[in-house]
Amino acid sequence: MTKPQPLIAGNWKMNGLGASLGEARAIAAGLGATSARVALCPPAVLIHRMSEALKDSAVLVGGQDNHWDDTGAFTGDTSAAMLADAGAGMVILGHSERRAGYRETDDIVARKTLATLRAGLEPIVCVGETLEQRKAGEALAVVTGQVRGSLPADLAGKAFSVAYEPVWAIGTGLTPTTPEIEEVHRAIRATLVEMFGEAGKGVAILYGGSVKPSNAAEILHADEVGGALVGGASLKAEDFLGIIRAV
Ligand code: PEP
Repeated sequence: MTKPQPLIAGNWKMNGLGASLGEARAIAAGLGATSARVALCPPAVLIHRMSEALKDSAVLVGGQDNHWDDTGAFTGDTSAAMLADAGAGMVILGHSERRAGYRETDDIVARKTLATLRAGLEPIVCVGETLEQRKAGEALAVVTGQVRGSLPADLAGKAFSVAYEPVWAIGTGLTPTTPEIEEVHRAIRATLVEMFGEAGKGVAILYGGSVKPSNAAEILHADEVGGALVGGASLKAEDFLGIIRAV
């Protein structure tokens, strides 16, 4: 099994208006030669305009969540098919802000992942421990439990990635040490191989949590790190490009 192609994905969260598409265009213009796949995941209402703006570039566009059902009476929600129709090629699922703020359980994330697959999109499934769980020595058990519970068996043979995002590192400027990142990524890899056999070796395991140009090279070259999920630093072309150049 060959090493997965690195993926650098930007999560704009609830940030960005039409005027922000200039940053997306600047990322596409500055990309140059890279061995990584690069994606931007803006708010759902920007997906269509961003995919139009980036259609002649190598930058992919993704969503930040989708409902577990395909259609129906779910006021305010967005289906995976709608994201695909708007131009998305991938979707972030199970982000800790959704797990914590919207009570998304592993089971809900798994059901959402199935909906993502039905729409032909590539899921990026997020997992990660809280600071209390890390301090209690539970990080590996929590993260591998989330991997087992959030990834449905139907992912076998499909393109997907897992993002390890320690909750305490998201948007805080704090990052785990490189050995701590490697320990968790190796445990995720072993779990993926248990679940999907040899194919589990081909899944990119992204790190996410306060990645910036100054720490990207060390993180991205750590063992079993196959890319990054980037929040704040993906909003500025210069910062996001700095991370991509560190691959
Ligand atoms: C994220 O929200 O997925 C994230 C990693 O955020 P930040 O890079 O801002 O910590």
